Amino acid sequence: MSDEHTGACLCGSVRFKTRGKLREVVACHCSQCRKQTGLYYAATNVARENLVIEGEEAITWYRASTFARRGFCKICGSALFWVADSADEISIMAGLFDQPSGLKIAYHIYCADKGDYYEVRDGLPQYRQGRPGLLTAGPSD
Ligand SMILES: [Zn+2]
Ligand SMILES: [Zn+2]
Repeated sequence: MSDEHTGACLCGSVRFKTRGKLREVVACHCSQCRKQTGLYYAATNVARENLVIEGEEAITWYRASTFARRGFCKICGSALFWVADSADEISIMAGLFDQPSGLKIAYHIYCADKGDYYEVRDGLPQYRQGRPGLLTAGPSD
């Protein structure tokens, strides 16, 4: 089924499968995402019930805010998931998916906090803060 996607962290200790349609990819340039990834966070999103994780014991959950947790592989360090406490959905890093993923970045958020060592010139919408209607830890434009 084209509605199933698989992926894994760099070392393969954490594997996952998603069911159903994946959200468009959102690129987040906030300082937390910059520090965690070294660049920016690019993630899709799926209902928690549509995500099956294998190797969950290799995931460390870091609470970067009172609002949400970030999951990463404690062996290879790959950034994996972002999940808000109140959410029924979980964000998954686009780079983890087996290729071709069929995923596309749709827009950029928290561009005001972007690192000064790169530019975003893909012509997609750029929000200074969050995008209205998108669940994030910070304010929206
Ligand atoms: Zn790993
Ligand atoms: Zn961010």
